[in-house]
Amino acid sequence: MQRRQHRICKPTACHRVIATVALAMLSPCTVLAEPWPTRYDAPTAKYAEGSFAGGFAYQSRSYSILCSEKLSAGRVNEMATVAESVRGVLESFPLELMPSTNGARERAVIRIYPTQNDYLKSGGPAGSSGFFNARSREVMVSNEYLIEPKGHRSNLEPRQRYRLLVHELVHQAMAENAVLLPLWLSEGIAEYLSSAQFAPGRYRFNESARDIVNHLRTLWLHDRQNTITLPTIESLIQMDSRAWATDNRINKDNAYAKYAASLLLTHYQFELAARGRGGLAEFLAAMKADVGKFKSGRSRHYGRLAVDQSLLWKDRSPEIVQKQLADYWQSKGLKLTFALPSGAKPAK
Ligand SMILES: [Zn+2]
Repeated sequence: MQRRQHRICKPTACHRVIATVALAMLSPCTVLAEPWPTRYDAPTAKYAEGSFAGGFAYQSRSYSILCSEKLSAGRVNEMATVAESVRGVLESFPLELMPSTNGARERAVIRIYPTQNDYLKSGGPAGSSGFFNARSREVMVSNEYLIEPKGHRSNLEPRQRYRLLVHELVHQAMAENAVLLPLWLSEGIAEYLSSAQFAPGRYRFNESARDIVNHLRTLWLHDRQNTITLPTIESLIQMDSRAWATDNRINKDNAYAKYAASLLLTHYQFELAARGRGGLAEFLAAMKADVGKFKSGRSRHYGRLAVDQSLLWKDRSPEIVQKQLADYWQSKGLKLTFALPSGAKPAK
């Protein structure tokens, strides 16, 4: 769960404290330009087995799954179905999450490494077990962590879900657009879809809060606690990849906290902040226009194109967003507290 590209956003208007913004925005919106998905069920993917210089190749319509060891038919079937589902589920949202496609594209590559050691030797970043390499555009995952151990979450996890694979495939599918996304939003969308997938290639969005709580319990909290400490929203929305990597390194035991905060903040943007009518749609459209400018060579510097995050927050300060998140998740059984991540500098 790491990414290399991004830039620092400088929140401006979102720092203004407007105390009158109330929880009214948390009420469900009734007017949507396009329907919000409640489910997405991908068909079972077909694939052909072949070989490449390094081992076995399994090719579905849009993906090549490569592994030095032979994988079982059932496993490949599930992984190909998961892979083929990701673009479809991203496209099912009334938001510009995906880059525009022009004609046929080459199959995207997923490299499966039999062991964690193989994964690390092949360039997987230390401390991770899955990675989207923005340079090669390939997803790399360790097979040891791809399969969630049975009984890990008892009867809450009756099906294999490939959460890690979904996370990395979302980065791969969004890569072209994601160069201008704030890191928290890129990681949050990857975790949001990972938490919504309840069986290979099948997603539901009508029970998100419950699914997110279960996701956090499976990956992070287990049965330890209901109180969780997250990085402050102000620090999270400014984190760049260097700060993210530093936190992964120095805050090993709780490195997932920033992914959890990114997930809750993405859920807030997707489901609580007036959905497609809110700032997210506007922000993504502005970002896409800037990606276009970058590609056409009108700007060679991402930083100069950074879309102002205040589009996302309107007049809500980070403190108000924290209060809204805390109130909402308290009602779902999670008590949130916020603290500066270790090593972070307090804002001036
Ligand atoms: Zn990630």
